[in-house]
Amino acid sequence: MTARHKLYEGKAKILYTTDDPEILLTYFKDDATAFNAQKRGSIAGKGEINCAISSHLFQLLEAHHVSTHFVDRPTANEMHVRAVTILPLEVVVRNIAAGSLCQQTGLELGTVLEQPLVEFYYKNDALGDPLLTLDRLFLLDLATAAQVDQLRAKALQVNRVLSEFFQKCGITLVDFKLEFGLDREQQILLADEISPDTCRLWDQADPDPNRRVMDKDRFRRDLGDVESAYQQVLQRVLAQTAQS
Ligand code: UDP
Repeated sequence: MTARHKLYEGKAKILYTTDDPEILLTYFKDDATAFNAQKRGSIAGKGEINCAISSHLFQLLEAHHVSTHFVDRPTANEMHVRAVTILPLEVVVRNIAAGSLCQQTGLELGTVLEQPLVEFYYKNDALGDPLLTLDRLFLLDLATAAQVDQLRAKALQVNRVLSEFFQKCGITLVDFKLEFGLDREQQILLADEISPDTCRLWDQADPDPNRRVMDKDRFRRDLGDVESAYQQVLQRVLAQTAQS
């Protein structure tokens, strides 16, 4: 048994090696950051909750023929994943206008988009993760045209599966961010996490624009009850998973 070795520590997760070079271990932290890490804090129990939600959603997506890096969840806040080279792109899918889309276009918060919007951002903290045009994406050699087509198709498939699943949980999937990686055969796998840290989730039972928020916007906007909102998302995901 070789000692595990820390490969990388990010804002919300730590990545370790395992005895198998093809498999890595992700540890989910309680640490929370927002606005490119200008706001920092901690959300009690977040590591376990996000690890559990992500694990369930990756398994749901695998069942719908979306290849992910998920292997298993050996402990409450650890996930084994396939080793991939992460593409330096954040792929955002939006169903309803919120966040930076409203700020940058003037669209009113809550506007239902006629069709899902897929956007590519440059995953680069030093530059503040800027929105890319396709020409800039190709200029910087961040992916090939064929990979962009695949990423868009996969992101839309994830959106169909997750929107339907969250609908059954009484939750509206407003928008979310995905990251993808390449395995040794250059196959694209869905990676990172899918959790209230990376999705906007609105409770359908509560029309109040603040009370309905079940995601990291509670932390970003100091809305309070962050832990209980995350916990509530997990409870609904678990209940819905048990039913299906
Ligand atoms: N998002 C994320 N990480 C980022 C940026 C965005 O997980 O670094 C998620 C965010 O939680 C939301 C979606 O991507 O669900 C769209 O975010 P937006 O572009 O509106 O940015 P924000 O308003 O969060 O700055």
